[in-house]
Amino acid sequence: MKEECGVAGIILPDNRPQSNSVAFKLYYALYALQHRGQESTGIMVYDGATPLSIKGMGLVPDVYTKESLGRLIGNIGVGHVRYSTTGGSKIENCQPFILKFKGGIVTIAHNGNLVNAMKLKDELECEGRIFLSDSDTEVIGHLLVKELIRHDPVESIRNVMRRLVGSYSLVIQIDGAIYAVRDPFGFKPLCFGEVDGGYGVFSESVAIDTLNGSLIRDVKPGEIIVFKNGNFESYQVTNEPHPAHCVFEFIYFARPDSVIDGKLVYKVRERIGRELAREHPVDADIISPVPDSGITSAIGYARESGTEYLEGLMKNRYIGRTFILPGQEMRETAVRLKMNAIHDNVEGKRVVLVDDSIVRGTTSRRIIDMVRKAGASEVHARVGSPAIIAPCYLGIDMATRQELIASYKTVKEVEGLINADSLGYLSIDGLMRALGCDKNDMCVGCLTGEYPVEIPGEKCRKKQTHLNDF
Ligand code: AMP
Repeated sequence: MKEECGVAGIILPDNRPQSNSVAFKLYYALYALQHRGQESTGIMVYDGATPLSIKGMGLVPDVYTKESLGRLIGNIGVGHVRYSTTGGSKIENCQPFILKFKGGIVTIAHNGNLVNAMKLKDELECEGRIFLSDSDTEVIGHLLVKELIRHDPVESIRNVMRRLVGSYSLVIQIDGAIYAVRDPFGFKPLCFGEVDGGYGVFSESVAIDTLNGSLIRDVKPGEIIVFKNGNFESYQVTNEPHPAHCVFEFIYFARPDSVIDGKLVYKVRERIGRELAREHPVDADIISPVPDSGITSAIGYARESGTEYLEGLMKNRYIGRTFILPGQEMRETAVRLKMNAIHDNVEGKRVVLVDDSIVRGTTSRRIIDMVRKAGASEVHARVGSPAIIAPCYLGIDMATRQELIASYKTVKEVEGLINADSLGYLSIDGLMRALGCDKNDMCVGCLTGEYPVEIPGEKCRKKQTHLNDF
């Protein structure tokens, strides 16, 4: 099962009277992280004795009410939003998971995907452990509880990390403390900041902005941060972190106003557009984004090329992403529902359409046809990511290899299939220039088919942290 999610945790100072303020803050934080998951959401608040929680299917504003949140009294809390995938859409998979055990109560929220979850689950089931969900997060929960019976929380988390292969950004509550944990590669984002005199840990910094807090820094790859008694302490558990941050967070997934691993996503996307203009120039009348995901790179492309930026398409902002609707036919209807051409802006014009990525190619084909129908004389597709040729096993719900158009078609063939006059993908080097970093510090598995961790049947890139390295 794939988990594309957003996580959140807040802890207020011990001397603060217990109130429902954490619950409301988590609600706003999850609202800010809604783009990371629209299938289900949950909030758990802890007052030092009892965990109180609300979980439900749907969007943040649909699941919580003022009254229900008002009842969640406690100064520590954990929240989660979960992405929709075609399978596994059920309340049992809704996070955070709350596990009561002999020594206390653990609450766990996870963003990422474990490659070895099935193996670990088998092992735990053979020991007699019972699973209530098919989420890999529950596997982490069981492993953690086993350790906590014998060790302190940091030692326990470290021991669990040794067993996990894959991506995980975790927010864990154990006995009134919050633990922020990022896997040794730092695949998925996780940062923390000062919030209302306490601390907050979130998938993206936009949640801190929303709460009027201040970003302190990212959790480092292989780091555990403990928030307790009004302070925080860091434990770097991997000897030598080898970052492999997910490129797709910067290309598409994260909000442009977030700062991830020291980089403002907006800036990266603007530079992506500039690189794209340098690599694939075209004589055109207007540069139009495919809204919303192509807006920032289209601005960069227009600035670099000196061609006018003009919106040729308008998006219906009241429906979710097309991927949330299962099935090819529904996805195609969703594209029409989602987008409309602005006739006057494209009629008789040579249009460059800039989008963030092409996955299956369905969206591009529909949009290009739409712009042609509205009277464009030429339509050139420019894509702010290199061709996606391989699946993601590490937390992005992409598609299977057979569904990825670039995995079996050449650029010329894709150009024909999407009905573009020309097609240009950004190169991997261009993407790295836009990111301002080295390819070895990013996970580019979907672009190269080589992954930072071992995945059965796939190529593994050489530089990797060994599991028993820490
Ligand atoms: P398609 O090529 O028809 O599969 O659609 C690609 C478009 O979907 C991209 O331009 C993105 O805006 C969006 N997209 C890419 N990856 C994802 C994803 N993992 N989840 C949801 N939407 C995505």
